[in-house]
Amino acid sequence: MGLHNGDKMMRYEEWSKLARKASKKSLWMVHFCTGCGAVEMPPVMTSRYDAERFGITSMATPRQADVLLITGYLTVKTLRRVIQVYEQMQSPKYVIAFGSCTINGGMYWDSYNTIKHLEKYIPVDLYIAGCMPRPEGIINAFIKLMKLIDEGKARGWEKYQKYYDRYKENQRRVFNFEIKEEQKEEKNEEH
Ligand code: SF4
Repeated sequence: MGLHNGDKMMRYEEWSKLARKASKKSLWMVHFCTGCGAVEMPPVMTSRYDAERFGITSMATPRQADVLLITGYLTVKTLRRVIQVYEQMQSPKYVIAFGSCTINGGMYWDSYNTIKHLEKYIPVDLYIAGCMPRPEGIINAFIKLMKLIDEGKARGWEKYQKYYDRYKENQRRVFNFEIKEEQKEEKNEEH
């Protein structure tokens, strides 16, 4: 006798819960060492804070990573690479952004070549406030992310799929702006 839809749903929910419990204890990260935050990662990973005891470790390729860390301010040029890396990661995938620069531009709020709000271009599951957050703040963010995964609330990757056109439009806008600025500079150099 086959399963009813209700039973299938229940089984699906049970399996998802189990998968979430397993995946939150095995977070492999790829860190894009932009900005000043990269320097906080060695103490997070080495004996002082020893993030591996939580199942957190680094991964060389995006295709096997679960978490993308953006460790500070981002230029438009770097944003292109960040998007490529994010799109290569398998779902479910999560993004943690470090420092004020990723939230609102921070001290680069009026810079012409850095982006101000990372979440306009890729979904961010967690921000760590500060300039720059200390290793304790980073560990704390991972623990919070584990909780969100467990509760099924870390769903940025679904948002990216759902609002894909909107993200692409924002990305196009910022890249077109960059191309126009480069053309302007070239013209100025010619004169
Ligand atoms: S928030 Fe501060 S520490 Fe972080 S990238 Fe910006 S300027 Fe650097």
